[in-house]
Amino acid sequence: MRKIYIILLSLSIGVVNAQTIDAATASKAITAAGLKKHLSIIASAEMQGRETGTEGERKAANYLVSQYKKMDLTPGNTGSYRMPYTLFQDKITNSQLKVNGANYTLDKDFWISASTAPQNLFTTNQLFYVGADFTDKSTLDVRGKLIISTEGKERTMNETMAAQKLGAIGIIHIAKSNPSMPSNLNGRLTFVPNTNAFVSMTVNKTVGSALVGGTKEFSEQEWSELPLGKYTAAIEWTSDRKSVELNSANIIAYMPSKEKTDEYLFITSHYDHEGIKNGEIYYGADDDGSGTTGVLAIAEAFTQARKKGFSPKRNIVFMNVSGEEKGLLGSKYYGDHPIFPMEKTTADLNIDMIGRIDPTYKGDSMNYVYVIGEDKLSSDLQPITDKVNKNYNMELDRRFNDPKDPNRFYYRSDHYNFAAKGVPVIFYFNGTHADYHKPTDRVEKINFDLMEKRARLIFETAWEMATREEMLKRDMPLNMPATR
Ligand SMILES: [Zn+2]
Repeated sequence: MRKIYIILLSLSIGVVNAQTIDAATASKAITAAGLKKHLSIIASAEMQGRETGTEGERKAANYLVSQYKKMDLTPGNTGSYRMPYTLFQDKITNSQLKVNGANYTLDKDFWISASTAPQNLFTTNQLFYVGADFTDKSTLDVRGKLIISTEGKERTMNETMAAQKLGAIGIIHIAKSNPSMPSNLNGRLTFVPNTNAFVSMTVNKTVGSALVGGTKEFSEQEWSELPLGKYTAAIEWTSDRKSVELNSANIIAYMPSKEKTDEYLFITSHYDHEGIKNGEIYYGADDDGSGTTGVLAIAEAFTQARKKGFSPKRNIVFMNVSGEEKGLLGSKYYGDHPIFPMEKTTADLNIDMIGRIDPTYKGDSMNYVYVIGEDKLSSDLQPITDKVNKNYNMELDRRFNDPKDPNRFYYRSDHYNFAAKGVPVIFYFNGTHADYHKPTDRVEKINFDLMEKRARLIFETAWEMATREEMLKRDMPLNMPATR
């Protein structure tokens, strides 16, 4: 036994590119101090919360590019570290509603959303009252009509979709109590300009009653007794809606391999966050400044190792995407326009929040990380993580792999857009906490010692995946619905 071991060892020294450094040693280049340095810049006030398509995000992108340049990593997009993409957003500056000549006020009588408001002027007198829980009433002929619905158990979103499918021109939801939030005058970010002609709004009971010919506010009883069917009222709804173009970019750098030059390992994070809301900066130190810092530090550790003779078997790609907080847009864009073939991408290790401790672990064993997705697509993932973890003895908490977990974290970060294309993924995550998506998600609250440990674990996992002979096998089902 022993003899064979010695022979193998001496053999491997000869074969493996005369590598003089091992993963555990190389991982020491990732330090709490180094992480703090990067994160203090990425989550600084200067970056203004890094909202997608804003100056703050571009500053963060510039910082990432400067770091990859410094590391002498290869630009991922034919000579450029940037993979730019364009987004569109509807913005509304003003909206007015008139019913039978009476004027109503935005956010007092009616509430709208930018993407389902009319382009300019919308008029009709063809109404159709459907009562509550409209989706159960799909046999009603509402084609060409503006649907009026009262609030029931059904989600307004589902009713809107059903109304659209049945050929209605729009839907007005009558709210039991006024919405607590003002109208959303900034639409969702989309890859193509919104051409939706279908309109929808929420109105209070006064407007609702006027729509069906009431001279005063109807009671619950009166609403339920009101016959379903056609009604007539002159509606004039104006809104100043324009489509604004936004520019964003994923940042991509890689360490080229000399052996399996057509194979790739991805390490990802999202560098965007929520920006400034009501004058307050959402710093996003944990979300996902921590992951972005982690990717940088891992890239630096590989760069240090390369100086000492390390060469990966397959290319290691470091990608920081944008648009995550707007609906995983940057990774979606990459997934739909991959620069490196997805079938040759062995895995994506996605880091989204690794700097904090969630309430489950607070005050207890703080030595943990949630690993999500490694029970899907490849049976190689879990053994690799377990093997690497022998050096760390970290609690690898796999509870969120349960498809029935209501948090659905598996769908909520960028690895999803790799998994959807068949690429095995591991999502590293510390769980949510009181500062999650709050202006208080700040650098001061980061646990850098724990973050160092988590980043080193991910680094060693990446090392193993980048240097093993074979790509990870794809032998398991995704075992999840294909839609988010
Ligand atoms: Zn987030």
